[in-house]
Amino acid sequence: MSKFERKPGVYLCEGCGIAEAVDMDELEEDVTGGFDFSVSHCKRAASFCTGEGYEELKKDVADGEVNQAIIAGCSPRVMTREFD
Ligand code: SF4
Repeated sequence: MSKFERKPGVYLCEGCGIAEAVDMDELEEDVTGGFDFSVSHCKRAASFCTGEGYEELKKDVADGEVNQAIIAGCSPRVMTREFD
C-alpha cells in the first residue's frame, strides 16, 4: 500500500476587501500556531488568483512543496478555472 505524504499549504488572500474585514495576523497565527491542525506552510498575498501570489502558488505546487493547496479567499465558484 502506498502512503500519500500530505504537504498542505495555506494561502491567505488579502484581496477583495478581505484584509480590511479580517485580522490577517491573527488568522495566520491560528493557521501556524502549533495546534494539532496547524500548517507550517502559510503564505499571504494581495491576490492568489493573479499576479505574484498566483505565480507563487503555482510554483509551490509545481516544485512539490505543496500537494494540498488550501486557498482562504473567495468562494470556489468565483475562480474555479484559476484554482483547478
Ligand atoms: S483569490 Fe479570490 S479573494 Fe483573492 S483577490 Fe482573487 S478573487 Fe479576490
